[in-house]
Amino acid sequence: MIYVDHAATTKLSDTALKAMMPFFTEHYGNPSSLYTMGQQAAEALEGARRTVAECLHCRRDEIYFTSGGSEADNQAILSAARWGKMRGKTHIISTTFEHHAVLHTLQKLEKEGFTVTLLDVHENGVVSPQQVADAITDETCLVTVMYANNEIGTIQPIAQIGEICRAHKVTFHTDAVQAVGHLAIDVVAENIDMLSLSGHKFQGPKGVGALYVRKGVTLYPLIEGGAQERRKRAGTENVAGIVGLAAALKEACEHLEENAANISALRDKLIAGLETIPHGALNGDLTHRLPGNVSFCFEGIEGESLLLLLDDKGICASSGSACTSGSLDPSHVLLAIGRPHEVAHGSLRLSLGEENTPEEIDVLIREIPQVVEYLRNMSPVWRDLQKGERSYVIQ
Ligand SMILES: *Cc1c(COP(=O)(O)O)cnc(C)c1O
Repeated sequence: MIYVDHAATTKLSDTALKAMMPFFTEHYGNPSSLYTMGQQAAEALEGARRTVAECLHCRRDEIYFTSGGSEADNQAILSAARWGKMRGKTHIISTTFEHHAVLHTLQKLEKEGFTVTLLDVHENGVVSPQQVADAITDETCLVTVMYANNEIGTIQPIAQIGEICRAHKVTFHTDAVQAVGHLAIDVVAENIDMLSLSGHKFQGPKGVGALYVRKGVTLYPLIEGGAQERRKRAGTENVAGIVGLAAALKEACEHLEENAANISALRDKLIAGLETIPHGALNGDLTHRLPGNVSFCFEGIEGESLLLLLDDKGICASSGSACTSGSLDPSHVLLAIGRPHEVAHGSLRLSLGEENTPEEIDVLIREIPQVVEYLRNMSPVWRDLQKGERSYVIQ
């Protein structure tokens, strides 16, 4: 099997699993309990908080653990919106290609009377800091721009956007779920006020994430019912999950440069191999790109069929994001970078991880063009394109 869907989720690292095990077995205490076993769990929790803080270059008491990236995004946005509303600021700026955890939360706020400006991300999938500066008004209470896109892998100019937001005294949140553990992040140097991350995107466990909130920025709880996480997130902590997240993040941060160098070399080789397929195009900027992301559109095929045939060959890939599969709508990200509907349907995302090998890349470069050709030979759309009865969108 060749697993190239690391943007959807990753395999738990051995280090993370080992760190978690004792908290399922002998150290099962509740961190809120006063006896020794409870306090050992509380210490493990604080140790994990310190590790996450070190990786992001912030203070330990600026980290709040959540049930994942989606919850962190919801809490950050709803919290900033509530703070803004109390001050008559009901304008929010974001982009057209955010994760649905952000977009759907913003839609909910629009129904409650907020005004949302979604910035265009251009053909290369990168928003410019100037667009953010131009969109800010006296009513703006929040700018939320993702660090790196989960479908096309493009990295946004976060430090420049952070600088603009700080100068205008506007809260800046970034969904960094695809970036944390893969790119070097310094929340202080980049003027980030709030940042979301998720364990299972960097070889930690699923169902656990964290929200960084800069000291001085108000955070409201989404879930009420207890004093956990300094009263900002009620519920008995997922101790094993949090310990696993921290262990995975520490390992990822310690090997960041080495992993990025190895993975991006594989990525570049794969991109070069797939670029030989006619009437196909890479999605997103070639340079401002996550080390592991390869995303293509191929004209005249359906991404879903491509995935099924690749699955038969033991290749686990994705057509866009895991969240849009099962629906017939083309990816909002591919539409955002200007791909027409019929082309957006023919998308393929291969997201690489440190366990992928050069041999696997060779297999992908051999198999994928064959599968694309096989599907095109059966496609009426492709026949029309070849006969000249329809014109190619991708030359
Ligand atoms: C995966 C992902 C999320 C959601 O994280 P979960 O932990 O699965 O809830 C949010 N944003 C981005 C960019 C993601 O890739």
